[in-house]
Amino acid sequence: MPELPEVETVCRQLEPEIEGRRIERLEVLDERWTRPVPAAEVELAVAGRTIEELGRRGKYLLLELDGGQTLVMHLRMTGNLVLVEGEETIDPSEGMRLYEGERSTSERHLRARFELDDGRELWFTDPRRFGEAFLIDDDGLGARFAKLGVEPLSTDFTPEALGERAAGRTAPLKSFLLDQAHIAGVGNIYADEALFRARLHPLSPAGSMKPEHQLALRDAVVEALEAGLTHGGASIDDYRDGRGEKGGMQNEFLVHTREGEPCPNCGGPIARIVVSGRSTYYCPTCQVRLRKRPRRR
Ligand SMILES: [Zn+2]
Repeated sequence: MPELPEVETVCRQLEPEIEGRRIERLEVLDERWTRPVPAAEVELAVAGRTIEELGRRGKYLLLELDGGQTLVMHLRMTGNLVLVEGEETIDPSEGMRLYEGERSTSERHLRARFELDDGRELWFTDPRRFGEAFLIDDDGLGARFAKLGVEPLSTDFTPEALGERAAGRTAPLKSFLLDQAHIAGVGNIYADEALFRARLHPLSPAGSMKPEHQLALRDAVVEALEAGLTHGGASIDDYRDGRGEKGGMQNEFLVHTREGEPCPNCGGPIARIVVSGRSTYYCPTCQVRLRKRPRRR
């Protein structure tokens, strides 16, 4: 499932390519993508608009259009947003951005297609079909995302901000990190990686952190996300970047999906437990389980 580094990778790749381009046409092939709004309504509203910017908030992609509206897209489990050469612009000597095999797979899972004025197309592909899109007026964006937590790569994400959000909470740190209302964009992969980097046990109550733990966890979340960005995101399942290529972060995991393999720090075996219904990987030796009773809120 794409998390902040995966979504941000797509955003950084596509932004310079599509900024200023006009969307000639949007074709929605799956009514579920815009539900409950009829696909035809969104198609009509987007056609002819110029892309002012492609941004990100949490795991959401924000396609800002002229005329004061933004098309918000969420990749959910298996969505991808990929720029492809239009059929008429393919130069056989240079090849396509997508290999033949990749292209036919993508075509099978195509949910929506933006035709741009330079002949290229932006494809939203999604095998599991949980991805979604909705249009929102720009002046409603703030309210729409008001309940979304702090952006972890922004200067707002301080140890104190983390401590305030965790204060009094008995939920395990792993669950706390997954809650988008606290920190936006962190999911299962980077929560595991961050907790290992901070040497904190995933079942420690969130409210039991002392200031030094808050500082360690803040730094660890940032470092884990930046590692993901450096390696172009993680392609465990279906994730492809904005060019249709796999990321490399899955080869760099410190603990995630590495059950039984040696801990990079102590060499002992990585363990796996289930927290909030999610597979959670950690080192039982290196990661300290905080047991202090949380203060009441
Ligand atoms: Zn260890």
